[in-house]
Amino acid sequence: DMEALSNEEIASFNQLKKSTLQAFSPAKNTNAMEDFCSLLEEFKPDLIALSILEDTFPIALDFAEEAHRREITVIAGGIHPTFSPEVVIKEKCVDIVCVGEGENALLSLCKAMIANESYENIPNLWIKCLDDKIIKNQIGPLVNVNELPYPDYHIFSPDRFYRPMQGKILRILPIEMHRGCPYQCTFCEDPSLNVLYKTIGENYHRAKTARRLIDEIKYFIDEFEANYIYFNAETFFAMPQKYFFELADLYPKEIGLPFWLQTRPETITEERVRLLKQMNVSNINIGLEHGNEEFRARVLKRKMANKRIIDSLKLLQNADIPVTVNNIMGYPDETRELIFDTIELNREISTATINAYLYNPYKGTELYDL
Ligand code: SF4
Repeated sequence: DMEALSNEEIASFNQLKKSTLQAFSPAKNTNAMEDFCSLLEEFKPDLIALSILEDTFPIALDFAEEAHRREITVIAGGIHPTFSPEVVIKEKCVDIVCVGEGENALLSLCKAMIANESYENIPNLWIKCLDDKIIKNQIGPLVNVNELPYPDYHIFSPDRFYRPMQGKILRILPIEMHRGCPYQCTFCEDPSLNVLYKTIGENYHRAKTARRLIDEIKYFIDEFEANYIYFNAETFFAMPQKYFFELADLYPKEIGLPFWLQTRPETITEERVRLLKQMNVSNINIGLEHGNEEFRARVLKRKMANKRIIDSLKLLQNADIPVTVNNIMGYPDETRELIFDTIELNREISTATINAYLYNPYKGTELYDL
């Protein structure tokens, strides 16, 4: 249990990690499977942990099959295994599925494997036995995001941090700001995580305090020479208002680096824009998702007026903050006319970038079950 660990235990785990943990994420210009096989030969892992989205499941299976062929235990976690554990565990090459949050489960699993002990009863894990019987453990308590050790990005190759942003290549470090989201959008898996954790009386949406965020960013600057901060939060302003005011006060004094965030249009206010400017905001991503008010409220459960969206974007435009908007098209029962409502709303606003995505029915979303 990560929360039950003392600082010394965390330090010793981090030390242990340096020689026992290796990240693999495919590089752009080489053959991913060849790279993966070389890493397996060089590192000789006992466990392969795959983080899987529904879209990446077929690719993940290719890697899992290679690991399975070499008799390496494979654990699959992430949003797809969480909402489709029975589909994922059915695959011959998957030994264990992690349902829900993985920190505590993965740590307990590694400790049990190192000590050669049974891991049959670890919360969150579905385990395939030798006779193909599946042990399905209940989900365990959530971690306290303010007490987690800082992420150790040393396990990734340093070139992973270089990303393009507004015409420059920057050393961008992502910082997890909240986990989860309190909103109810029907095309998104986040609301189902809230439902899943309500079954054990836990609130999935948790935010880091301003002090914790500032200290973590300082660590990213010292350790990884970050020169741009990517606030990883489903909706930046879903944090308690008090946390934002504290962050707006501390960030310019102690950090000052340009940063990116995403939020919902109706969370933008004049005061927030003023404070974001003082903090040195560089780019904001806004989810429009649909241009027809009635459809957006009824089908997507995003209740806000188009006027509010337009006014929010004007506030950002007047403050000279570059904005990217996200749209989705191709929802169930969406007509050509409805798609044109989205196009027309985009015509009414002025943004640096417009993204348009095709709707995908992901398991675990309310719209999937239509
Ligand atoms: S606001 Fe974003 S993250 Fe939250 S439920 Fe809606 S789409 Fe999902």
